[in-house]
This record gives sequence, structure tokens and C-alpha cells, in this order.
Amino acid sequence: MSEEKHYLYSPWRLDYILTEKDGSCFLCDHQNPEQDRDKLILYRSKHSFVIMNRYPYNNGHIMLCPYEHKCCLASLKDEVRQDLISMLAACEQAIKNVYQCDGINIGLNEGKAAGAGLDEHLHFHIVPRWFGDNSFMTVVASERVIPESFERSYDRISAELRSLLSERD
Ligand SMILES: [Zn+2]
Repeated sequence: MSEEKHYLYSPWRLDYILTEKDGSCFLCDHQNPEQDRDKLILYRSKHSFVIMNRYPYNNGHIMLCPYEHKCCLASLKDEVRQDLISMLAACEQAIKNVYQCDGINIGLNEGKAAGAGLDEHLHFHIVPRWFGDNSFMTVVASERVIPESFERSYDRISAELRSLLSERD
């Protein structure tokens, strides 16, 4: 089975694309909030941020990660972990509200053996799923159709996150 087909059955397989060719960490490239739109950063909390996946498995495929360049949950401070879990719930709700999907994959790969391409900087994948999307993806294989533009996805998801999180505060 080709790599391309492989990831169609498992959204996390796409992880390898996160690794830049020069070896720098894509997820550490988040210093300037003025570039958030260009960098596809959807939302920033105190300890973490939400970013769109440039190579989505489905419309609305987003990722959540801590600012800190840490490989695993155990290496994070409690307050960072708590922030991540709280943000994970917000991401889940935002994706449900925006996409009215049938289900959601929430995944974390720790280590290359587990499918992490970028294994030094922890990141959760949040992927909306619809009945039948897997078989559809299988049929179209490498020519995956992602009908919604990034611009539109970005606007909808970031607005929903802001709305949800402002209600909580
Ligand atoms: Zn990093």
C-alpha cells in the first residue's frame, strides 16, 4: 500500500509533512501574532495555540499544540496540560458547530513509531468526520478533493473559537 493511500485510513499519517526540510520546527514558528493569518494560527490561549493543517485530511482538520517545544504530555507543566485539555474541548465544540460533522477524530502521536513526523513538538490532531468520507477518500486516492477554501475555513473556525472561549471567560 502506498504512503498516500495509507494515510487515507489514518489521518495522523500526514504528520510527516510538518517537518520542514531544513530541520527547523514548524510549530515553533509562531512568535509574531501579526502573522497569524499567514501561518494559519486560529487561536492563542495562554499556553497553547490552534493551527490549521496545511495538508488536511478533511475540511476543518486543525491541530492544537503548546508553545513549548516539548515531546510529550509528561514533560509539560500541569497548567500547560490543563490549558491543552480545555482548548481541546473548545476545538471539539468549534468543529462540531462549524461543520455539523458526524464524528471527530482526536489524536496524539508520540514518537515516530506512533506515526509522529514531528516527534519533538507535541500536537493534537482534530479532524471532523462524516459518514462515508473514508470510502470517498479511498476512491479518489491521491486526488483528494478539499472543497472549502482555507480562507473560508480559517474565518469560520477562528470566529467560532473566539465566540466559544469568550463565553467561558
Ligand atoms: Zn517546536
